[in-house]
Amino acid sequence: MMPDRASLAPPPIAAAANAFQALPEAALAVDGAGQVVLANHAAGRLFGYEAALLVGTPVRRLIPAWQERGELWQAADTGSEGFASRAIELAGVRSDGRALALELTPSRWSSGAGELTLVLIRDVGPRQVGEQRRTRETARLRAINAELSVLYEITAAMARSLDLAETLPAVLRTITQLQALAVEPRGVLFVLEGRRLRLAAQIGYDEDFVAQHREIAIGECLCGRVAVAGEPVLSANSAHDPRHTIHCAGLGDHGHIVVPLKAQQRVVGVLCLHLAADTTPDDLVVSALVTAGHHIGVAIEHARLYEAARERALHDPLTGLANRRLMELVLERNLARARRAGSELSLVMIDVDHFKRFNDAHGHTAGDAVLRQLAAAITASVRDADLAARYGGEEFLLLLPDAGLKQAAEAAERVRQLVAAQTAVTISLGVACYHEALGSAQALVDAADAAMYRAKRAGRNRVELAP
Ligand code: GH3
Ligand code: MG
Ligand code: MG
Repeated sequence: MMPDRASLAPPPIAAAANAFQALPEAALAVDGAGQVVLANHAAGRLFGYEAALLVGTPVRRLIPAWQERGELWQAADTGSEGFASRAIELAGVRSDGRALALELTPSRWSSGAGELTLVLIRDVGPRQVGEQRRTRETARLRAINAELSVLYEITAAMARSLDLAETLPAVLRTITQLQALAVEPRGVLFVLEGRRLRLAAQIGYDEDFVAQHREIAIGECLCGRVAVAGEPVLSANSAHDPRHTIHCAGLGDHGHIVVPLKAQQRVVGVLCLHLAADTTPDDLVVSALVTAGHHIGVAIEHARLYEAARERALHDPLTGLANRRLMELVLERNLARARRAGSELSLVMIDVDHFKRFNDAHGHTAGDAVLRQLAAAITASVRDADLAARYGGEEFLLLLPDAGLKQAAEAAERVRQLVAAQTAVTISLGVACYHEALGSAQALVDAADAAMYRAKRAGRNRVELAP
């Protein structure tokens, strides 16, 4: 069974929800229509509701002046990239009708999933309203807000697809553009494969850099060290850092912040960001990136599990060939192309001769081994563009794009000879070529099958062509 995408994709709201719940501060996420889409337990306590019941509530019920969002937006917009540069004070209403004096630190996000306002809420108490704000506290709220927003952006970028080739560049783009992180618009994302880091996404570097960093060994340079240690590394200036061993001409002095990408404590990749030389990112940036590294790591793991499940769902475990399902998908696609572009397309149906007898004489396990050898021989005798599938128990189907009847017959004969030479069995083959009268997948398969049966009747170990 192929798992459905929805169950494997990390939904951005759900991922952000975990971060929310862990906050000691009351926090709400409000959508563009003014509805609460996330509320943590602290918010529930503050307003006197079960947190879960707050979700779906119009935020006006909790903060009546929310409608006049002008002030909120202003506060959110005065910072860079939507981070609030100052908190604002608004009255709130508890479930029992009691008035609350609240300090809100908002940030607004409009990315992929739509517009979202995150607010961290502090109950300042009636006497403190209008008093001088405690700047340290506000700075801390802003820091938490920034971290949440980074997480939201990254999870939203990843939730759009399970295809790493698509998501990892998007994640890197998102991270390097977040002004709160204050990194250079350059970075690399490596995925761990065995004992090597493979470059999975890069932004801002040239071809030479890419060629030099396509693959690096674990332990090598800053990234390789992070892959081994599983801890972030800061390098203020690559020119003077002995750990920075891969130098790329033309980059000039620079620093790096490198964080591990982890899934269940295991390193699955490395994120390396570029810094201006001799700058030190503050702790908040490092901790936001470390947390982000966990999210990205889990997304990589999910995508790999999905890919493995997909691979299993479309391939035959005994021979490793495509299975009937995949063959049918590819055949439909090739037929559409043949109809549209007028290109040629042929099928070869293959059936083992007297296989029941072979099994009876040598046992089923030996029979299975022959099927594996057969698959190898078939694969070896066709082009890369051709698709070989295990179509049934001892039946194989070959799809030959851009091959007419003559070419396909030659390929079939090559397969027949190789199988006869390399395995303990022989095969019978039927060849059919796409044309108007054989316009559907079913008609084409049936024609190849009928030709194969003619080969059986004509004495086996031979190739027959559909009329
Ligand atoms: P023919 O030349 O007419 O095709 O004779 P046959 O014995 O190959 O044809 P038949 O369809 O009567 O039998 C197919 C046999 O293939 C039945 C079964 O024993 C064998 N078979 C099918 N799938 C497998 C498999 O996965 N492993 C093994 N070992 N044998 C299989
Ligand atoms: Mg058969
Ligand atoms: Mg057979």
